[in-house]
Amino acid sequence: MSLLRSWFGDRSAAAEIRHINRRRVEFANTDAASLREAFRKSKDLAGTVAIVAVAAARTLSMEMFDVQLQGALALGRGRVAEMQTGEGKTLACTPAVAWYAREGSGVHVMTVNDYLARRDAKWMGSIYESLGLTVGCIQQTMNAAERRRAYACDVTYATANEIGFDFLRDQLALRLEDQVHRPFHAVVIDEADSILIDEARIPLVLAGGEEDEEALARRADPLVRRFVRGLDFTLDEYGRNIALTDAGARAAERYFHSANIYAEENLALYTAVHNAIHAHGLLRRDVDYVVKDRSIESVDQFKGRIAQDRRWPAGLHTALEAKEGLPFRKQGRVLASITLQNMVALYPQACGMTGTAATQAEEFRRFYGMTVEVIPTNRPMIRVDESDAVFPTKRAKEEAVIEEIRTIHATGEPILVGTASVEESERLSLRLTGIPHAVLNARNEEEEAAIVARAGERGAVTISTNMAGRGVDIRLGEGVVELGGLFVIGMNRHESRRIDHQLRGRSGRQGDPGRSRFFVSKEDDLMTQYGMEHPEHHHDAESIQRLVEGQNLEIRLFLNKYESVIEGQRQRIQERRQAILESAQPEIERLVALRTIDDLWSAYLETVTELRAGIHWQGYTGHDPLYAYLTKVDALYRELDESIEPETAIRLEQARASGVDPSQRGATWTYLTTDMPFGNYTERVFRGLSRKVAKRQLWG
Ligand code: ADP
Ligand code: MG
Repeated sequence: MSLLRSWFGDRSAAAEIRHINRRRVEFANTDAASLREAFRKSKDLAGTVAIVAVAAARTLSMEMFDVQLQGALALGRGRVAEMQTGEGKTLACTPAVAWYAREGSGVHVMTVNDYLARRDAKWMGSIYESLGLTVGCIQQTMNAAERRRAYACDVTYATANEIGFDFLRDQLALRLEDQVHRPFHAVVIDEADSILIDEARIPLVLAGGEEDEEALARRADPLVRRFVRGLDFTLDEYGRNIALTDAGARAAERYFHSANIYAEENLALYTAVHNAIHAHGLLRRDVDYVVKDRSIESVDQFKGRIAQDRRWPAGLHTALEAKEGLPFRKQGRVLASITLQNMVALYPQACGMTGTAATQAEEFRRFYGMTVEVIPTNRPMIRVDESDAVFPTKRAKEEAVIEEIRTIHATGEPILVGTASVEESERLSLRLTGIPHAVLNARNEEEEAAIVARAGERGAVTISTNMAGRGVDIRLGEGVVELGGLFVIGMNRHESRRIDHQLRGRSGRQGDPGRSRFFVSKEDDLMTQYGMEHPEHHHDAESIQRLVEGQNLEIRLFLNKYESVIEGQRQRIQERRQAILESAQPEIERLVALRTIDDLWSAYLETVTELRAGIHWQGYTGHDPLYAYLTKVDALYRELDESIEPETAIRLEQARASGVDPSQRGATWTYLTTDMPFGNYTERVFRGLSRKVAKRQLWG
């Protein structure tokens, strides 16, 4: 059983909590110095929880609830604690953080944005300090020295991305003193589902130098612009897979004066054409991306707002820029890259907390070996989740939502509306004439937090994209309890039930009254994309969601097989590099060796990326793509491994002869790619294949 919630579980948890509460009473009479001493000597988790609870009561005047103690125990045991919104996870995690920090090797608390890292470090700081622990936080604007100081603290609050980008920069450090991290020891992940599931497979990238595929993208665009769907390319009935038809392939060959666009040496050409079709045929302006200040900004599917510093894989991003007639942004060359999933695996100890984990228990277990423990709420949850209101068309649905908002608003009850896209939120906002409301797709985290915090006031109407404002508590204004609390309207069912639960969870905190209802139509994406695949569930969003979640998990597990081999290689290269970095070799020899490894690795990553882009052909021609990929990657890596020494020797000679300083490196920059390392396309193909052609072969 993956969910630790059984009669026995409840009973033993209760006994443990009683034990901790008895210890709290004992510690309550000790002075500050003795409490610190007791913490230093504490050998067991329960004792530590009791001590930290006492410290919290003294410094913040907050008495930890029993359910918070239970959450702390779960976290201290390396689990994912499911605790509803507003239950006080920020405080609940402090005993676990202190527990992991007792060895002095540093604990990271991962938050979803910089604002929360700053807020929580400051808010919880006095608890840690009263126990003799140091606390720091990382902000995007910090320089290397400030970062190093923050990471040297016992407890460091930071976003996963900042930790990851620092990790990548460390990997390329030419001097030991330039590295900012200590070896990873323990991590407590807030909003764990967001980081470990939604963002988990997005690669963090450190890029540098220059190299462009712009010319090809520019040339492919006018060709594809003339393409006719159904004639030159096909889009499957679910709008997910694209394929070039014979006619399309012939047109491309004529256009590029090439004999066979499928030939291996034309991979770059084929990729450019493919990216252009993808950009024109599948990505929608104002839904998947927006054009802002003459550049493409991608829209985060889960948060429904602009994803900062995020791009599509280089070629696709360039294709979009060509489609929109925008200047090309420099893509550079990937120097180092890691996914959050692989990064979290580097921590010997990890745990997480979120309001929505239970539906993903299987995924937490299979990817991270973490058990989900459902922690009961402090007070009974009395929010009423109404059944979906179903409409034949999107238009009818929108009319009904507007009508509903007008009716409810007249009573003064606050309303929070969750929309699926920036476009949808703005359209609704335009049509909501005469009703003052706030639209939340802001990029400023602090402003966003303030808007969300006010969403519970009398008469407030807040239109938000999915999950905006996670981490911020919505307190009810005066008289709102009598009006029935916060009313949450969802305008769509998401692919994942978890995202819907997250939205509903904004209402009904700490025993507050509240209500939630989803308005759906048969024209919604979820229904049109998947409902047809499973006609028996045509009217039942939850059943479709379950099916899609299962399918997505399978895809992720499958793609993981491709990724883990590269991650293993990265670790081996990194160990070798770190040994050189820490070695006592003469100043210049070490530098050249490091630079050589970096360049070879970067070139290797590029080759692997190309290989992945082409791998789907293997599927069509009847080879096992995973086997083909592994064989090739293995050979390439061996080649890389063997060329490090001779290449270093050659470069050393060159460096000595030319007198060029090898410590000089061009600018580097970091970003997230919007997509999987394989590109959405490959994933789509896998999906398509799993359904149609090669199910047995792929999953077998
Ligand atoms: P979550 O992250 O679980 O959604 P927060 O950590 O943001 O919740 O806390 C929500 C609110 O509950 C905060 O305003 C916090 O001050 C309050 N709170 C948490 N724990 C306690 C407690 N033990 N006693 C009183 N207030 C608490
Ligand atoms: Mg929180």
